[in-house]
Amino acid sequence: IVEVRALHKRFGELEVLKGIDLVVNEGEVVSIIGSSGSGKTTLLRCLNLLEEFHQGEVRIGGESIGYRQRNGQRVRASEREIAGQRAMTGMVFQAFNLFPHMSALDNVTLGLTRVRGMSRRQAVELADHWLERVGMRERRDHRPAQLSGGQQQRVAIARAIAMNPRVMLFDEATSALDPERVGEVLETIRSLAQEGMTMVLVTHEMRFARDVSDKVVFMDGGRIAEQGPPATLFSTPESARLQAFLKTSS
Ligand code: ATP
Repeated sequence: IVEVRALHKRFGELEVLKGIDLVVNEGEVVSIIGSSGSGKTTLLRCLNLLEEFHQGEVRIGGESIGYRQRNGQRVRASEREIAGQRAMTGMVFQAFNLFPHMSALDNVTLGLTRVRGMSRRQAVELADHWLERVGMRERRDHRPAQLSGGQQQRVAIARAIAMNPRVMLFDEATSALDPERVGEVLETIRSLAQEGMTMVLVTHEMRFARDVSDKVVFMDGGRIAEQGPPATLFSTPESARLQAFLKTSS
C-alpha cells in the first residue's frame, strides 16, 4: 500500500535521505528505528508531504504523492489534490498537536464535519466510537489542558483514525510522555495494530517495536542499513552499526 522508491531529501546542502526504498503492505506494521539524526522523522513526513522531497517517488494506494497523471505525463498535483492525497494517511505527532481551545470531542469531530462533510450528529457518533476505543469517551468534554499527556495522545490517535486513513503514521508518539504514561499509549497502538491497521511508526521503544512490528527498518545516515522481521533484526543484526545501536538503546 506504501511504496517508496529512490527517495532523496535535502535541507539546503544537507542530504538527509540518500535513496530510500521501502514497501509497506496492507495490514503491516513497520517500525523505523535508528539513531538521532538518521532521517527517520523526515522519511515519515515525506510520506504525507509534510516535507517535500527532491527525487524519487512515494506511492500510497497506487497514487504518486504530490503528482498526478495528465495526458500520460506526471505533473505536480494542485494543493487541493495534495490535500486529498494526504487524507490517505493519518499522522500522530510527538507533541499531540490538539487544538487547545476545543474539547476532546470537538478535536475529533472537526475534520469529520469540515473535511469529510459529515453532519454534526454523524460526526459525534463516529467520534464517540473512536474515543471509546481509545478509552477516552468519558473525558470527551475535557479540553487538552485538563488531560494528561497520555490522554491527549489517545485523543490525537482517535482524531487521526476517525478520518479513516489507509495508513497511520506515528512520529515518536510516546517520546514526549512521562514514563508512567507511555504504556497506555503503546497499548492503544498495539490494539489498533492487532485489528489490522496498516502502520508506520518511528519509535525509540525497542521492546515495543520488537513486539508489534511485522518489519523493522534500521536507518543510518539517511539510508536504510538493514530491514527485516523483528525476530531476525534484533537477534542477529548483521551490520556493526545496528549491533552498536541496539547495545546503546536497549
Ligand atoms: P530523532 O530521532 O532525533 O528525531 P531522526 O532520525 O528522526 O532523529 P530527522 O528528524 O529526520 O532525524 O533529521 C535528520 C536530519 O535532518 C538531522 O540532521 C536534522 O538536523 C535535519 N533536519 C530535520 N529537519 C530539518 C529542517 N526543517 N531544516 C533543516 N534541517 C533539518
